Amino acid sequence: MEQSTKNYVESFMANIVANNPGEKEFHQAVREVVESVAPYIEAYPYLKELKVLERIAEPERVIMFRVPWVDDKGEIQINKGYRVQMNSALGPYKGGLRFHPSVNLSILKFLAFEQTFKNSLTTLPMGGGKGGSNFNPKGKSDNEVMRFCQSFMTELSKHIGQDTDVPAGDIGVGGREIGYMFGQYKRLRDEFTGTLTGKGLAWGGSLLRPEATGYGACYFAQDMLATRGKSFNGQTVVISGSGNVAQHAAEKATQLGAKVVTFSDSNGFIYDPDGIDQEKINYVKRLKNVIRGRIKEYVKEYPNAKYYPDERPWSIPCDIAMPCATQNEVNKEEALLLVKNGCYCVTEGANMPCDPDAIAVFHQAKILYSPGKASNAGGVATSGLEMSQNSIRQKWTSEEVDAQLHRIMSDIHAACVKYGTEEDGYINYVKGANIAGFIKVANAMVDQGVV
Ligand code: NDP
Repeated sequence: MEQSTKNYVESFMANIVANNPGEKEFHQAVREVVESVAPYIEAYPYLKELKVLERIAEPERVIMFRVPWVDDKGEIQINKGYRVQMNSALGPYKGGLRFHPSVNLSILKFLAFEQTFKNSLTTLPMGGGKGGSNFNPKGKSDNEVMRFCQSFMTELSKHIGQDTDVPAGDIGVGGREIGYMFGQYKRLRDEFTGTLTGKGLAWGGSLLRPEATGYGACYFAQDMLATRGKSFNGQTVVISGSGNVAQHAAEKATQLGAKVVTFSDSNGFIYDPDGIDQEKINYVKRLKNVIRGRIKEYVKEYPNAKYYPDERPWSIPCDIAMPCATQNEVNKEEALLLVKNGCYCVTEGANMPCDPDAIAVFHQAKILYSPGKASNAGGVATSGLEMSQNSIRQKWTSEEVDAQLHRIMSDIHAACVKYGTEEDGYINYVKGANIAGFIKVANAMVDQGVV
């Protein structure tokens, strides 16, 4: 990077840090994008004059609200609710809701910022947003979750709509939570519209939406592997998480001939040397989605597997790693270990799971590495397809949705190759995804004036 570009990056980041104090995840996400797009901005000075990137890094609107609810003991509980409406240059705000005790403004701003570029990459007309609450659904009864969701939606419903802002699920928000929130939205607004995605199949949901993020990540990884003449067939895959994204990444990788050997949650991971086949994946789906149990219970069902408490799965040798749990779950030491043990492809299913030092390790080793904003975009893309089906009041078959998902993932891969291929032929997917995502949003903002 030239010195003038370096100076631009550092002065940009100094402003971001000064204007958003203490928001370290947001700073991290912005820095990654600024480093990628700075040379492009230097080449097109009007983007600098129009302060396009400065505007992208400032949310259009942030809504914060109180979420009071009554627990099963009759005690009043109070949580924080948020919606970050980041950027609407390409369409209505779109992005998930996260319910997790760690949720704060920094995490939601980083997610909403990433979402803006991800949605741009999908080629669909969607702006970027994200929201959620520090509410912890774990250990709560269904009735408690319902009362919380109803209270949360009572406020959020004032700020969203099918042409304004269309939330979806994320960590802690699955089919159950979307159902309760949709019910309350419909009751308050007296309308049956596609204002939330991830809905049940009988009431406006799209086939393959639950599978889409994990499947899409595998389709993306297939294209990455193909650049090196490889495929999933016969490869050992290490996956973190055991929620929506992890389950469906494991399912598709297995269908494509890989041997998946790990799942994890925030308490530890399981390693199954025999491989986690479809029957075992079905067990995990039941365990996590219906019984709402912990991943350590897997070893009671499959005694050949071993449970490692308080550890992450990156010490297990593999060919392909798919972090599918949460942000900053792969650090430098773990990245070095993965590479040392022969891992040559890291495909992110989660958002920002690899920290900047880990990414530097992968780039230095010249292994395949894709950022979540490219490889996990299949989820929001299929949410976009759900919106289209709702608008025309039709339902597409799973084959139709799968074909569109596959095409979108291949288009995103092609965009990364176009903008990310370096002089020596190495594909820098971070650079490719950031530049490709940025160009579309930036051009739309230039067209729409200073708003
Ligand atoms: P789920 O709530 O279904 O599952 C999350 C999984 O990650 C659980 O196994 C959970 O374990 C684990 N996890 C959560 N927080 C932590 C933590 N702090 N440390 C270790 N493990 C943790 O969420 P999703 O599968 O939907 O989301 C996973 C990731 O994928 C997130 O980064 C999300 O933003 C991203 N994503 C999701 C999309 C979707 O369509 N759902 C779309 C695009 C990205 P535990 O049960 O212990 O909490």
